[in-house]
Amino acid sequence: MDVGFIGLGVMGGPMALNVLKGGHSLTVFDLNPGAVKRLVDAGAKAAASPRDVGAASDIVVTMLPEPKHVEAVVLGEGGVASGLRPNGVVIDMSTIDPISSQRIAAGLKARGFHMVDSPVGKTSEHAVTGTLTLMVGGESEIIARVKPVLDCMGNETFLCGGQGMGHAMKTTNNLLATTIMTANTEALAIGVKAGLTLELMMDVMKTTMSNNAQLYVAMPKKAFKGDDSPGFMVKLACKDVRQAVELARAQGFEPLVGAACQKTLEEAIDKGFGDRDTAALMRIREDQLGIKVRETGVAAGRAA
Ligand code: NAD
Repeated sequence: MDVGFIGLGVMGGPMALNVLKGGHSLTVFDLNPGAVKRLVDAGAKAAASPRDVGAASDIVVTMLPEPKHVEAVVLGEGGVASGLRPNGVVIDMSTIDPISSQRIAAGLKARGFHMVDSPVGKTSEHAVTGTLTLMVGGESEIIARVKPVLDCMGNETFLCGGQGMGHAMKTTNNLLATTIMTANTEALAIGVKAGLTLELMMDVMKTTMSNNAQLYVAMPKKAFKGDDSPGFMVKLACKDVRQAVELARAQGFEPLVGAACQKTLEEAIDKGFGDRDTAALMRIREDQLGIKVRETGVAAGRAA
């Protein structure tokens, strides 16, 4: 298939590479020339604009930061929809809210095109290995058409429902994942300040209801090493939580935990950590309390 790909960042770059490796012809566009060059070196064609990507493609994937970027790239002047081949499909894999997603899909439909929403779960490492979790929304016959392209990027595909339901799933998922991670940083910092070791807390929490994947999978790789190189950037996590909070408010509900998490992330951005990995939240708590949440090398004690 002739596939286009727009947004070749931390996630989109390796995902586009996997589409290419899947045997599809690929035309790419990004505002960052370095990101385009990496794909062109691997065999993709560079386009001069989103419109030119559309003109060269039956299916165009977008992997962009926020709804406003997706809307401009897809429906704006010189956008994908102004060039896309007849009956073409846009797969938006960015993390955007379901209301924006449905609005963009309606704009495409009015021009005779289709949209599938397929935001992704897991991490940039899974983007490289083509093992992302895909949360898919849209019309089933259109999803079936684009499935060979989706399969290049993910190994677990969930059909979430109609248009925008993939984005509804992703918004819900990220609110939970990010609030858990933020709560972890507070609890661990309080524990270390009180005199507990990281090893003891990890050993105990593994056996209790506070066990969570952020604590045992994500944080040991970066936060507990003091590594906040991106990864998943604070500004993107903040955007995700803000979208979830706004969705809740549109439903007439005030999400108190989500709003507190959003405030924590906004404070991290104000402190200059917007482009750092969310592991920076741990560093901020460490600095506030004058402690380090790191392995001590001392195993936790257990009763015989
Ligand atoms: P990123 O900032 O690394 O990449 C975004 C890319 O889009 C950049 O290369 C940028 O130059 C390009 N871009 C921005 N505006 C553009 C425009 N108008 N035209 C063309 N290119 C444009 O971000 P990322 O980490 O790859 O995330 C992309 C999306 O995936 C976000 O919505 C994010 O929330 C989501 N996501 C990220 C992760 C992660 O771990 N990083 C995981 C799951 C989902």
